[in-house]
Amino acid sequence: MPDKKLNFSGFSSVAIHAGHEPDPNYAHLTPIYASSTYVFDEAEQGMRRFSGEEKGYIYGRWGNPTITEAEEKIAALESFGVTAEDGNPIELKAILHASGMAAISTLMISNLQSGDKVLTHYSLYGGTQELLEKVLPPLGINMIVADLRDVDQAAELINAHPDIKMLYLETPANPTIQCVDLDELTRLAKTKKLLVAVDNTFATPYLQQPFKYGVDFVVHSTTKFLNGHGTAIGGVLLGTDLEKMNGRVTKVHRLLGGNSNAFDAFLLIQGMKTLEIRMERHGHNAVEVAAFLEAHPAISKVNYLGLASHPDFYTAAKQMRHPGAMLSFELRDGFEASKQFIDKLQMCVRAVSLGTCDTLLCHPASMTHHGVPKEKREQYGITDGLIRMSVGIENVQDIIMDLEQALANDNG
Ligand SMILES: *Cc1c(COP(=O)(O)O)cnc(C)c1O
Repeated sequence: MPDKKLNFSGFSSVAIHAGHEPDPNYAHLTPIYASSTYVFDEAEQGMRRFSGEEKGYIYGRWGNPTITEAEEKIAALESFGVTAEDGNPIELKAILHASGMAAISTLMISNLQSGDKVLTHYSLYGGTQELLEKVLPPLGINMIVADLRDVDQAAELINAHPDIKMLYLETPANPTIQCVDLDELTRLAKTKKLLVAVDNTFATPYLQQPFKYGVDFVVHSTTKFLNGHGTAIGGVLLGTDLEKMNGRVTKVHRLLGGNSNAFDAFLLIQGMKTLEIRMERHGHNAVEVAAFLEAHPAISKVNYLGLASHPDFYTAAKQMRHPGAMLSFELRDGFEASKQFIDKLQMCVRAVSLGTCDTLLCHPASMTHHGVPKEKREQYGITDGLIRMSVGIENVQDIIMDLEQALANDNG
């Protein structure tokens, strides 16, 4: 049997091999373990499993071999090349969940209690924002929202509110692809021993590794680039404090019941193997698409981290390998023109979500934020003409051709 414990020097080698255990029946790929429970040879073995004396699966909500492979692969990617203060490689524990929201819920509920506050910023993923706004406050957990691109303001808030327990960051984030500085904010948080959690969904570990800066937790919606093909909803919570991850966090995960399943884990494993080549292609394409859009007369603004005009260009350059595949842009002619543009697309797909092989575009003002009053929308940068785009890995000339024909003013 091959030794998968080699120290690979490349990201893709890790993505392809990490976490894989040889199958007892010599299957090439880890099978989908479609089994809700696991058998004991004898009662004694059951006892040993329950007490933790013997490793082994017991019940599907607690774990499954297909899920374990996905978890170990993500942990290997988020920790790839990252060393702790003592110079040794960091060790991470990953827990796969049914969705990104399930992972974020486990994070919050296992780390916070009544009276605690979360310091976070504008432009969080909508579901996270609502969790913090509607689900956690009745449990006594509240949030403070600020523009955390202003580190001095963050410091003032942390000093003024000793009940802040966690800094929750998402970078880059919708709708204008804003970034916050992971290094500076984590340093600041650590002066007060705050927990730091980062949603790394848009970047993926290929473009950005928050654990480099000493954060405590990373969450992903694996639904997006990690799966990469839009075939399954999923999420993961990773942490450095193994005692806590194996203790309180595992307990909360198991009891809230947001576990993943073997089918989705299988799809995720296959998707992650090509993460590097997909992200390279996504990024190359996005650079060209952004340049095309920036030069187009119908477009007044392009928000892409690879453009020097983006206010967070330097923050992104500092902490990301590449500006990535997410961008947004504004059509000069507003709401109706944007709807028409979206309707005229032929190859690119009209859909929310992101990170799939195909290019996805959505018009938040008529879709995700349709019910939100215009003034409130605009506070978050969602203007009538804003289009969000997840640049796919098609041949870029075809993406541009489609955008060009959809933008063409052929009414007259
Ligand atoms: C999609 C998304 C989530 C939520 O993930 P689900 O898998 O839909 O539950 C959280 N954060 C970000 C940045 C996302 O894009």
